[in-house]
Amino acid sequence: TSYVFTFGGSTRSDDPRSRDKTVVGGKGANLAEMAGIGLPVPPGFTITTEECVRYLAEGGEFSDVVKADVAAALGHIEQAVGKTFGDPADPLLVSVRSGARVSMPGMMDTVLNLGLNDVTVQGLAASSGDARFAWDSYRRFIQMYSDVVLGIDHHLFEDALEIAKEDNGFYADVEMQAEDWQKLVKEYEQIVADALGRPFPQDVHEQLWGAIRAVFDSWDSDRAKVYRRLNDIPGNWGTAVNVQAMVFGNMGDTSATGVAFTRDPATGEKAYYGEWLVNAQGEDVVAGIRTPQYLTKASRERAGAKPLSMEEAMPAAYAELAAVFELLERHYRDMQDIEFTVERGKLWMLQTRSGKRTAKAALKMAVDMVGEGLIDQKAAILRIDPMALDQLLHPTLDPEAVRDVLTKGLPASPGAASGAIVLDADTAEKRAERGDAVILVRVETSPEDIHGMHAARGVLTARGGMTSHAAVVARGMGRPCVSGASAVSIDMASRTLRIGTRELKEGDVVTLDGSTGEVMAGHVATIEPELVGDFGTLMVWADVHRRMKVRTNAETPADCRTARQFGAEGIGLCRTEHMFFDDKRIAAVRQMILAEDEGGRRAALAKLLPEQRADFHAIFEEMAGLPVTIRLLDPPLHEFLPHADAEFEELSEAIGIGVATLKRRADELHEFNPMLGHRGCRLGITFPEIYAMQARAIFEAACDVAAQGGTAPLPEVMIPLVATRKELAILKALVDREAEAVFAEKGRRVPYHVGTMIELPRAALMAGEIAEVGEFFSFGTNDLTQTTLGVSRDDAARFLGAYVEQGIFPRDPFVSLDIEGVGQLVELAAARGRATRPDIKLGICGEHGGDPASIAFCEKVGLDYVSASPFRVPIARLAAAQAAL
Ligand code: PEP
Ligand code: MG
Repeated sequence: TSYVFTFGGSTRSDDPRSRDKTVVGGKGANLAEMAGIGLPVPPGFTITTEECVRYLAEGGEFSDVVKADVAAALGHIEQAVGKTFGDPADPLLVSVRSGARVSMPGMMDTVLNLGLNDVTVQGLAASSGDARFAWDSYRRFIQMYSDVVLGIDHHLFEDALEIAKEDNGFYADVEMQAEDWQKLVKEYEQIVADALGRPFPQDVHEQLWGAIRAVFDSWDSDRAKVYRRLNDIPGNWGTAVNVQAMVFGNMGDTSATGVAFTRDPATGEKAYYGEWLVNAQGEDVVAGIRTPQYLTKASRERAGAKPLSMEEAMPAAYAELAAVFELLERHYRDMQDIEFTVERGKLWMLQTRSGKRTAKAALKMAVDMVGEGLIDQKAAILRIDPMALDQLLHPTLDPEAVRDVLTKGLPASPGAASGAIVLDADTAEKRAERGDAVILVRVETSPEDIHGMHAARGVLTARGGMTSHAAVVARGMGRPCVSGASAVSIDMASRTLRIGTRELKEGDVVTLDGSTGEVMAGHVATIEPELVGDFGTLMVWADVHRRMKVRTNAETPADCRTARQFGAEGIGLCRTEHMFFDDKRIAAVRQMILAEDEGGRRAALAKLLPEQRADFHAIFEEMAGLPVTIRLLDPPLHEFLPHADAEFEELSEAIGIGVATLKRRADELHEFNPMLGHRGCRLGITFPEIYAMQARAIFEAACDVAAQGGTAPLPEVMIPLVATRKELAILKALVDREAEAVFAEKGRRVPYHVGTMIELPRAALMAGEIAEVGEFFSFGTNDLTQTTLGVSRDDAARFLGAYVEQGIFPRDPFVSLDIEGVGQLVELAAARGRATRPDIKLGICGEHGGDPASIAFCEKVGLDYVSASPFRVPIARLAAAQAAL
């Protein structure tokens, strides 16, 4: 097997691995692919991700085979370009970039102009006929290489450049002449020598291997690890290294560089979208040092901007670029994010990849592309990240609300957010941990800010375009972002900021509208989104292709309504205890709990019965014709107890029992380990009158709703925390008895089922026996995870972070099901349950029912439905369709 693959020039590798992104990374695969379809790609080679994994595992050494392969691949570039690496007269220069399977900020990004040294810079000056260009390229190289490979603080170089300009009375870099750059190079070399105690490497091969090592090492950098953790990227993928002949966008006014999307990544509109700069290198566009210009005439005019678009300034190169866009979209059948360079009028493609996009844009593009015949419905379904739909389910600003607009920047990532201003990422994280809503405000962001961006509700930057770091990362995270708000100036010393004429300080509340770019003072009201248009279309397609039903976890009529609007096909879990916390009812609940005997309990339960009946009545009406799974009381009773003295006194007054008695009774209820204590069906076994009251409320409400005509309700009574067949048998008999009693009183019957949750390992193991009694199983994977792992779901936050960081769990097992462990119990219980009762209905109602990876597992096991919280229902519908395809 090869560790190195070449691309470009006249060769084309037939090895499919050369275009497999798991082998050569996303960037390498796409470069090879582009070269393969005849696009102008500067020749280069890719060292594989496998070599990275091996290198990191074996302590950072390269084998002779790899060294020989790299030498041969370098020969390929030299031959294709007609220049030699290190040639003093006319040197080949290369770029070195990282490229994992997926694009990943936080890793070493790019070194340009590699191959320059004190000798070859003279050759470049002579061969290009442009000494200024040569020395400018050399100083850029020293700065980049020193920063990313040698680990020298880039500020040292930036400061030196600022001083050089000041000394010369220059304002902009373009005023620097060849001699000025040459002088600066000497200073840069001194900075390196001072920092390292040895000179800047002059051997071009040493430069190359240094950069290759830096790319591989950066896979294990802290920043990369943080990004991987936030994005569920496995640590064992590794990154590839791409080495490619340099082409120059900074060779004068017929040269340029730019980034572009084949469709608008924010809205999905079918229009080219991008930014470019004349006489510049790629870094200048993304870094926000110069403000980029518009790509197309239409977008320039729409923005009312003056500097000519590329379409106007370089019509020939633009036309060629537009043709490439069309070709790439037809080839990849997806929107592409492209980097290009024009060197003295000739177009070169440096990169293409499927472009990051907002959820709104993703939907529009997927639906449009089906219409255009580029993809089919299945491909459209598979293309949308279910979790990204979350963005669309978030509020937008109420158009009626009063806005005190401070300034307007670029609409970099849609959605609205309010929060307190914070000026650095660490503060953002700290305040967010305390539960504060914060807006991170920075001049511009860098990979070091990622944890703060994640913690913040929104991001505001003073500099940077739509493709700046802040914009790209915020879009990926689904955080609203306004970038390039140049009226914002930040004073870190006093921790204040000025927006236009207004003074603000850290902690002041602002609101961002990432869809318009507006920044507003104070909190602005928001409205809920409507799920129509492309969203509705895609959901219909998803529904056609999924097998599993999607239900919701809900216990209020309002939640039921929301969930139905989102497409819920029933209730998978109605937690009745939530109904007990109501202000009006809690006294009766407490009376019931603190009662000394059954008589006392019955008196309190009599007060609760009409309340519960009304609850169920409303829910049955809301969910007409759909199954409603109602779980009988589950939590340990002490959760309902009063705490403060005042509460005890109030209760004593209300129910006429002395405070001292109440307190004694409360003490008696204390448990050392309540999660494994007197809860779930154990309540039903010890206080059957509680479950009897709940069952009666359910059947009375069901009969009443049935009596109103229309479709009869479909109640499913669910017993929690069952471990044995006997528990369920006793409680099912109780429920059946109550049902028969109510049916006799009401003179009508409604169909119903009695089933159980599977949330204890013993229940999973004994599922065959339990299914003799239970008519359905619902996997309570919250408790099943807790009890299988022996990890308290209420205390796990303190250590689970470290567990995920150290790779002990790939993800938080309370968020995404531990498929290999807990999943076994689910699979086994499903099989044993079915063996006993072939038509047993199987569902999941733990939080995992809304997690796409867990949903895929549920499909594999063949569950009948998943149940998710109302806002997750659309996510679950899409994920279920993807799992079935
Ligand atoms: C569960 O345990 O998975 C479940 C759904 O019940 P609860 O979260 O209410 O314990
Ligand atoms: Mg549970």
